[in-house]
Amino acid sequence: GERPIGRVMAQVAMVMNLDKCIGCHTCSVTCKQAWTNRSGVEYVWFNNVETRPGQGYPRRYQDQDRWKGGWTRTRSGRLKPRAGGRIKKLATIFANPLMPSIEDYYEPWTYDYDHLISAPLGDDAPVARPRSLLTGEPMQVRWSANWDDDLAGGPELASQDPVVQRLGDQVRLEFEQTFMFYLPRICEHCLNPSCVASCPSGAMYKRSEDGIVLVDQDRCRGWRMCVTGCPYKKVYFNHKTGKAEKCTLCYPRIEVGMPTVCSETCVGRLRYLGVVLYDAERVGEAAAVADEHDLYPAQLGVFLDPDDPEVRAAARRDGVPDRWVESARRSPVYALAVRHRVALPLHPEYRTMPMVWYIPPLSPVVDALASTGHDGEDAGNLFGAIDTLRIPVGYLAELFTAGDPAPVEASLRTLAAMRSYMRRINLGQEPDPSIAESAGTDPE
Ligand code: SF4
Ligand code: SF4
Repeated sequence: GERPIGRVMAQVAMVMNLDKCIGCHTCSVTCKQAWTNRSGVEYVWFNNVETRPGQGYPRRYQDQDRWKGGWTRTRSGRLKPRAGGRIKKLATIFANPLMPSIEDYYEPWTYDYDHLISAPLGDDAPVARPRSLLTGEPMQVRWSANWDDDLAGGPELASQDPVVQRLGDQVRLEFEQTFMFYLPRICEHCLNPSCVASCPSGAMYKRSEDGIVLVDQDRCRGWRMCVTGCPYKKVYFNHKTGKAEKCTLCYPRIEVGMPTVCSETCVGRLRYLGVVLYDAERVGEAAAVADEHDLYPAQLGVFLDPDDPEVRAAARRDGVPDRWVESARRSPVYALAVRHRVALPLHPEYRTMPMVWYIPPLSPVVDALASTGHDGEDAGNLFGAIDTLRIPVGYLAELFTAGDPAPVEASLRTLAAMRSYMRRINLGQEPDPSIAESAGTDPE
């Protein structure tokens, strides 16, 4: 490359293919059994799967005006945590009011098993009321991590999605126009983690060998500034131990070459884990780019091509183990996020440089359905009909590219071309390279 390579580091990252998620929550449950099946963290889901549009978990976590997560850019172009300075001081004095309450997560409950059998018959089943795990009392459930899902994501709930509210008239919520998809979420193990920057005790750290972000339980003093500072709300407070806890990317498994529990148990097989090499000296610069629309391409510029001999030499110079470099060469994450640009980050405008990437859902093309009866997987249809995709491109762009529709469209075109190309092959027809070329993609 033109620019000298700075310090090479390795990061374990993940790509999730949203078209394949069926919202079964197996990942959430297996993660819970492995990591948060303890008292003090009943309400905690290191992995959650939210219905979009919807408010997510915790409720409205994307509203950074309210929660002050992530980084802002000062007028002089420097980055500072939104929850820094005065806010941090006030928060430590007033025991941090800037964090979601238990109602925003949800009050965990259990079923009233005795009553299930003895309760008199009612009009609706089940007849027994759930019982709070916090108070032991029967309770009325008003909100949960899957509320949008349970109520089928109707227009009423969808209208409370902060992204829908920001888009205004661009998203139509009438019945014929409704859309939904699932968004599984874990900690992003960010390259520029604002949770680490906001911890007053130095208890949060990013491991240099693989980039996994962890909380040192012995050093944590329970300030909870990390809960405020994380824009994805993926640090949780254990109210029994008084310490912060978070997704560990199953590091004891990663260390012995096993996948995370969520990846291994995913029913849709949609989670790809891999190592990526990046230039640590470019991180701050890429995160501080002035124009939010340019953040996504700027952040891609931080990754290094593991097939480039210069990169491999620099990696060796900087002490990256050879097996990590080899792993990076085979990594689906580099291929999907950087080489083919089909996987996109979640909210790059939070400037933490998240390391979980999403292949956007390629929804049916409404026009194509109506006029041809085809499901819109034909690349030709998609090129003409990008505005009539069932899931509005604007909605996906708000999630993945700070509102810029171009990278989302490019990803969807590539995906559509790949499907058309593969479909011909699967039907025993000759491969047609023109399909790939027309989408600006290499047939390989
Ligand atoms: Fe920290 Fe994870 Fe939140 Fe990123 S997503 S700021 S690494 S807790
Ligand atoms: Fe989606 Fe896989 Fe989780 Fe099921 S296990 S909800 S398919 S990510």
